[in-house]
Amino acid sequence: MDTPNRSIKCTVESCRNHCMSEDYCSLSSITVGTHECNPTQEACTDCMSFVKK
Ligand code: SF4
Repeated sequence: MDTPNRSIKCTVESCRNHCMSEDYCSLSSITVGTHECNPTQEACTDCMSFVKK
């Protein structure tokens, strides 16, 4: 059973690191990055710690 990290809320249930019972990440830390040269809105940012189930 994954332990939720209460400091990292997340709703991406298709990620292997997601705590399915609750909307939290189970990692101790994550890396956030961007796929844009000049990010201007939240959709420009990505969780680089995502792992497909
Ligand atoms: S690694 Fe990123 S996408 Fe995956 S559960 Fe954690 S915060 Fe969410």
